[in-house]
Order: sequence, then structure tokens, then C-alpha cells
Amino acid sequence: MSKKKQGLDVHAGGPRCFRCGKWTMVYERVSPTPKMLAAPFYYRRFFRCVNKQCKTTLIMPDEFRVWNQDYRAQVEREVEQMVGESEQLGGYTDGPPPWA
Ligand SMILES: [Zn+2]
Repeated sequence: MSKKKQGLDVHAGGPRCFRCGKWTMVYERVSPTPKMLAAPFYYRRFFRCVNKQCKTTLIMPDEFRVWNQDYRAQVEREVEQMVGESEQLGGYTDGPPPWA
């Protein structure tokens, strides 16, 4: 039986902790909260080390990061605008994107 808590499905079966080698619990985001949907992104799945002595508590791989589409579209519009403006200023487009 997995327990549900605030839109999370928690169950065993995560990968081993990269720090201590213990197993991790899987936290599956089944229903993101409105607060999460308002944020730039949230994690649809992350892992938690079961070892209380371990400094690694949460493991959040980039591959499980879910971008809020509205936010991303907004950022991309802003970047296009910035690139457009910088092109007028001489084509400066170096540097990481604002979400990196
Ligand atoms: Zn650990």
C-alpha cells in the first residue's frame, strides 16, 4: 500500500542514494498544487534517502523536472525580446539563458 499525501504518491523502489548507497523512496507527484503550477517548474518525481544520517535527503533529477508551460513561454518571449534588443546593440547573445 502506498500512502497519498498532498497529491504525492510515496512508495519504495527508488534508485540507491548516490552518497550512502541506501535505497530511496519514490515521491510521485500525482496532482500538482496550484502553487506548484504557479512556480516556474516542479518535480513530477523525486527520491528521498531513507538513511536519517545521510546528508542527501532529496534527490531531484533534472529529467523529472516539469516546466510550467505558461512560465516557459513567458521566459522565451522575454529572451526573444532581449535577444532582439541586444541584436540592435551589436548582437550580444552570449551567456546562459535565464532558466539555466
Ligand atoms: Zn543517502
